[in-house]
Amino acid sequence: MITILGAGLSGLSSSYHIGHNQCVIYEKNNHATGHVHSEYINGFTWDEGPHVSFTDNEYVKTLFKESVKGNVLEYPVKTINYYKGSWIPHPAQSNLYAVPQPLRDKCLEAFLSARAFYTDDFIPKNYQEWLEYSFGNTFADTFPAAYTRKYWTTEPQQLSTQWVGKRVFFPEIDQVKEGYLGPLKEETHYVKKVRYPATGGYMSFADKLLQGSNIKLNYELSHINFDTKQLSFQNGENVEYDKLINTIPLPVLIQKSNAPDYVKQAAEALNCSSVLLVNVVANHETARPENWIYVYDEDKYSTRINCTELLSPNNAPKGKTGIQVEVYFSNYNQKNISDEEIAEAVLKELLEMGLILDRNYIETYHTKWVQWANVIFDHQQVKNQDIVLGWLEQYGLTRENDDLMPMTNWAEGDNTKYGDLILAGRFGQWKYYWTDDCVLRGLRVSQGLKNTI
Ligand SMILES: Cc1cc2nc3c(=O)[nH]c(=O)nc-3n(C[C@H](O)[C@H](O)[C@H](O)COP(=O)(O)OP(=O)(O)OC[C@H]3O[C@@H](n4cnc5c(N)ncnc54)[C@H](O)[C@@H]3O)c2cc1C
Repeated sequence: MITILGAGLSGLSSSYHIGHNQCVIYEKNNHATGHVHSEYINGFTWDEGPHVSFTDNEYVKTLFKESVKGNVLEYPVKTINYYKGSWIPHPAQSNLYAVPQPLRDKCLEAFLSARAFYTDDFIPKNYQEWLEYSFGNTFADTFPAAYTRKYWTTEPQQLSTQWVGKRVFFPEIDQVKEGYLGPLKEETHYVKKVRYPATGGYMSFADKLLQGSNIKLNYELSHINFDTKQLSFQNGENVEYDKLINTIPLPVLIQKSNAPDYVKQAAEALNCSSVLLVNVVANHETARPENWIYVYDEDKYSTRINCTELLSPNNAPKGKTGIQVEVYFSNYNQKNISDEEIAEAVLKELLEMGLILDRNYIETYHTKWVQWANVIFDHQQVKNQDIVLGWLEQYGLTRENDDLMPMTNWAEGDNTKYGDLILAGRFGQWKYYWTDDCVLRGLRVSQGLKNTI
């Protein structure tokens, strides 16, 4: 039997691809699916933060489609930016025409001089330098740097650049000039079409992986002894493992283990954001058509906003809107105010932005705390992760070429031979993984185990 910690997508995919009959999964919650879990409350479907699938991978597309028996919605994503009362199409860097004056002119001027100044062989030392090089300092400071402080919870100087990839649109000079005059003919947002289950919320995409799995719910790991290969759980149960696939957050695994202090300190220094979701029901139609809204104002808690009925019309009763607001915290930006106070402030912000038409329309609201949201790729991450992974090698972890990198290139072949300890998933491997990556990691682990046996 192979033992798996965590029944999120990575744990489920590992078990599915190895064969559910050869695996047992231990999960701390009373339900599976981890971050892709959806909740159903009074006719509303609430995901754990906005989830859509934008994968190009045909295998994952088919698996998700089969999970929902073909009932999948596919639509172009609509995104917009909110800045001090202005609504700016996304990405703002190629839609400067919608930026208020005199900021618009200053952004263009700084952009042009940045592009004249930097050469192609310029290597940015941090994300702030990358932003200034890409957009010029005026735009960089007003938009992405402000958003970084809200979403990544720290200064862009603190972040490395390896994770950026295609996520932040790098515009050509002509596109910025054209976008300064008016809307571009072609959409430049990196995600174009997305897929989402017609019913049941994003969680339904996990149905196929879930069926037939052998999951022990309410099993929260309390201690792992790597020397004796023993797991202890909060409910008092103890089990031994032969091969272990870990998908629970790496810092949690290490804190609960027999690791020496220097390894525990390295694990503790791995930074991750948490998100407070504020879910609000208002008794009127959706106020704006965009799937999500990025809010740049640093005097507002709201960072990203989506409406659940725009993900699927079946996610909410007709005529009502279910607004979900994300508010981020971390060790860099600690939460020292109550959920209730944040929710109250968010309601005021939604009224100010016109997403709720009037206070009287608010029917209900609730908050949800999500402890593990985004791995923060700060400058200490690689060093600390290397210490942790290096220590785990003696317990059967096989080091992989890209195990300190934010992403995995699935197009590259892999013939890793796994030992008795395997890491999988966004927090288990400490990566910038999306749901497709988690599915593909499970597949790769199963193939690697076949190579090994
Ligand atoms: C706000 C937000 C929005 C996102 N949007 C998208 C999107 O639009 N598209 C997309 O593709 N991806 C998106 N993602 C990423 C996606 O959610 C993750 O990549 C994926 O769900 C991670 O799966 P996982 O199995 O690796 O981790 P998890 O889902 O976290 O699974 C780990 C499991 O381990 C369990 N666990 C933790 N501690 C213990 C313990 N001590 N003992 C036992 N079990 C434990 C947890 O309960 C959980 O079930 C988003 C993520 C966030 C946070």
